[in-house]
Amino acid sequence: MPESILVLTHTDESGLLTKCSLETVSAGKELAERLAAPLTIGIIAAEPTSAAQALRGCKARVLSVCGEVFAQARYATDVAGCEALYKATDATLILAPQSSRIARVAAGFANRIAGSIDTHINSIRSTDSVEVSRWFYRQRIEASMTRSARPWILLIEGGVYPAFTPGEGEVLPEKILVELPEIHTTVIGTRAPAQDAQTIRPDARMLFVAGAGWTKKQPDGEVHTSQAGDLILTFLDRTGASLGSSKSLVDQGGDGQPVLPFLTHMNQVGQTGSTPRHPRGLATCCHGEEPHVVGWRFISERRAISLDPNCGWTRGKADVVYVADAFKVMAQLNELLGSKA
Ligand SMILES: Cc1cc2nc3c(=O)[nH]c(=O)nc-3n(C[C@H](O)[C@H](O)[C@H](O)COP(=O)(O)OP(=O)(O)OC[C@H]3O[C@@H](n4cnc5c(N)ncnc54)[C@H](O)[C@@H]3O)c2cc1C
Repeated sequence: MPESILVLTHTDESGLLTKCSLETVSAGKELAERLAAPLTIGIIAAEPTSAAQALRGCKARVLSVCGEVFAQARYATDVAGCEALYKATDATLILAPQSSRIARVAAGFANRIAGSIDTHINSIRSTDSVEVSRWFYRQRIEASMTRSARPWILLIEGGVYPAFTPGEGEVLPEKILVELPEIHTTVIGTRAPAQDAQTIRPDARMLFVAGAGWTKKQPDGEVHTSQAGDLILTFLDRTGASLGSSKSLVDQGGDGQPVLPFLTHMNQVGQTGSTPRHPRGLATCCHGEEPHVVGWRFISERRAISLDPNCGWTRGKADVVYVADAFKVMAQLNELLGSKA
């Protein structure tokens, strides 16, 4: 059966297509070229015309569902919008970003169109059939899948494809009418922590990892937890780095030991934590044991500061290791960063 591809996209608060949407456009374009299949891009937005200019030169039919009801994410309207965009095409493959907005409605959307759905897709291959892959069990098992059922919805992970870069020309999206249900949910605002209170920053160029050494007795026989907290937060503030942690450090709260109050289990990197993707990483006061370092496998350049010349980092896990007191190194580094600012 010949394939036909629909890429669903949506805007952010500024009214522009999200980065993850533009990455999904690249995925759809690549697949359409390989299969020689027609490509349609659907936009969910309050005002789609300016958002659609990010698709200049894409050589695709561009549709939109629009109006003030699509300015913000809401299950009832978003699922109706996705359904209307699908019904305006004869798509057999539907690619959409693995964003919180789409992930929330994707299962309901699949059910409405009697389609199949797979999520967290990180690659699409096509030879005789379309084959996709995703990770399971914290990226330790990779599954390759193919399906004969159509329509087939695929949610594409962020950061896998490059964001589509627009070319020349102008894009005028065709407006598709949506039969909206009675709306029971009104979005009255967003409550979120201040940007500088967020220590997990997936787009940061650097990952800074704090280990349990920060709260351990130092050579003077004392613990210096509040000084440790100040040094770490100052560094994050001056560099915009993302904060990771070892398991030992985030577990300490439960053990009644000194804690860094801004750390939670969400910051934990490793086998039972996260596997972040930053170009650079700096580990401090961390021993570099395998269950921790396995979470570093997508960090390209690794550096560590540890007092222990025999730690895991020095045994081949880091590119550069400073055998030094992290309190002293970070204080000096913060001073240099402060004077640069
Ligand atoms: C099934 C399983 C799953 C696990 N999953 C994870 C996981 O997901 N993530 C994870 O992190 N761990 C995980 N662990 C635990 C892991 O094995 C280690 O115990 C943990 O990573 C150790 O944390 P740490 O290096 O911060 O602490 P420690 O081993 O206590 O090391 C502290 C280090 O700080 C150094 N230090 C102290 N003071 C200073 C100073 N002033 N300057 C510089 N260095 C200093 C010390 O020399 C020492 O090397 C797991 C373990 C198991 C069994």
